[in-house]
Amino acid sequence: MSEKGSVARRDLVAYCDAMLESAAFQDYCPNGLQIEGRDRVQRLVTGVTASQALIDAAIARGADMLLVHHGYFWKGESAPLTGIKKNRIKALLDHDISLLAYHLPLDVHAEVGNNVQLARLLGWRIRGGLEPENPRSVGLHGELEKPQSACEMTESLTRVLGRAPLHIAGNDRPIKRIAWCTGAAQGYIEKAIALGMDAFVTGEVSEPTVHSARENGIHFFAAGHHATERYGVQALGEKLAEQFGIAHEFVDIDNPV
Ligand SMILES: [Zn+2]
Repeated sequence: MSEKGSVARRDLVAYCDAMLESAAFQDYCPNGLQIEGRDRVQRLVTGVTASQALIDAAIARGADMLLVHHGYFWKGESAPLTGIKKNRIKALLDHDISLLAYHLPLDVHAEVGNNVQLARLLGWRIRGGLEPENPRSVGLHGELEKPQSACEMTESLTRVLGRAPLHIAGNDRPIKRIAWCTGAAQGYIEKAIALGMDAFVTGEVSEPTVHSARENGIHFFAAGHHATERYGVQALGEKLAEQFGIAHEFVDIDNPV
């Protein structure tokens, strides 16, 4: 990362909180600043999940702040700072690196959100939310410019995401109407079925998802939780670099799931 300007941590966090409307979300984790590091930010590292490998990469790059989609302090997790939780948090505190995390706000945002970014990469036209009545619908639905066979859809997901998706064939018609939700949204297949979609794309799969796809006649693609959620945090990092003149680097810690 080249030497550039710097910004007060407080200003950067306030900018993100406002832009992502993080206070408006009911989420499974705190959104925003999760761990406080030094007062100014000159070097920003982004990544999908605040794993030890990503923290080590941030330390190696002299980062002042780590911005992720999957941070810490999830509802229901064990609270004590022991084991890997202690190791991760100690490494961040020892190096005075802030941890900034946005979960649902970064899935939903209309510009830098994971779902909008995925659609842009794949050339899908957005028509509305996966939950049309919800203004903060996490998933989206839309159309392909040109209908694709399931095989062509598999090829385009493989090319863009760099990994082959799992495809469950629901019918033998070409795909035109498509719904998607990044991450572990396999349960939302029911919402795609209710909207009469030809296909549903998400990150993960469960055993019952296969039967639901086959019996409801909808194509299902599990394209990777990590792979589908690489793009929101990158877009936000680029935006922050532009806004504040700071250095930004996205670090991809490979995850096959
Ligand atoms: Zn996720």
